[in-house]
Amino acid sequence: MQNLKRTNSLPWPSISGAQAGVPPHSAKLGASLDVAEVLCDASLYGDGPPLWDNCTSSATAEKQRQSLCKRLRRFRYLRDGAAEVEASLAHCQPPNGNCRSAACILCGRAFQRFVVRQGNSLFASAGKENLYLLTVVPEAAQAQIGALGSHDLSAVTSGFASAMKSVDDVRFLAGWDISLNDERQRGNGKFWQPHLHAVVETSHQKALKGALSKQFASERIHRPVQFQPNFDGSNRGFSYPFKVGHFEKKVFYRSSIDNTWKVKPNRFSASEEVELYLWLSAVGLSNRLICSDDIYGGAA
Ligand SMILES: [Zn+2]
Repeated sequence: MQNLKRTNSLPWPSISGAQAGVPPHSAKLGASLDVAEVLCDASLYGDGPPLWDNCTSSATAEKQRQSLCKRLRRFRYLRDGAAEVEASLAHCQPPNGNCRSAACILCGRAFQRFVVRQGNSLFASAGKENLYLLTVVPEAAQAQIGALGSHDLSAVTSGFASAMKSVDDVRFLAGWDISLNDERQRGNGKFWQPHLHAVVETSHQKALKGALSKQFASERIHRPVQFQPNFDGSNRGFSYPFKVGHFEKKVFYRSSIDNTWKVKPNRFSASEEVELYLWLSAVGLSNRLICSDDIYGGAA
């Protein structure tokens, strides 16, 4: 298998992917959390706790919102929904007039901060030896460039929730992240790869890994299920799955120095960025989050 060099120091395993071309799913997404109620809290839009390394300030988020609005305006006649999402973001006035769009940098950041707070509280009593960071890269979640708009993750979400619930004594808080993987040098094309990150508390990690590995078996993805033990409960760990402004575009290349496969970051094109945020808007904030039944009523 190829060796993929980590390109950052984030507390999550690197991801790898393979070919695109999986058709969208049609079932309904769902996680029972009242986002409107959650985002009533003005402090979520501020700069107080929770904090972590490189967390986005409210001022930076505002700049990012304006930049994204400009980009969406450029595409208002080119992409269905761009005008509507731009209008929603442009008129967002937190907290009482917030737009609650998952594409909104302000509301997405507030939601991320809410999850970090909750994560701290929900897993405060867990022993470090039972806390894991989990990354799942489902082949079935891949989407071709340009086809993300109609991409529905509900079937993959359900499969993930079922596998997590098939093992006793598992609590988890998971979020959908997404990257754009450019694997053309490896012959795998260029595609969107939605993937899941979770904080997991369990004393049955091996059984859980077995259930997930069975559910997400893939011949084309190197290690689709990865656990990291001894999660320290850091804010950064809880925040990572719910990023709003730092999505990654990864280019896989073969190093001329040691002939191994490595990954380097690249910038999104305007078109790619618009496609990503329109998709986020369609998914919605609550549907980015999946959790065990004892948290917010659990996954659908
Ligand atoms: Zn908003």
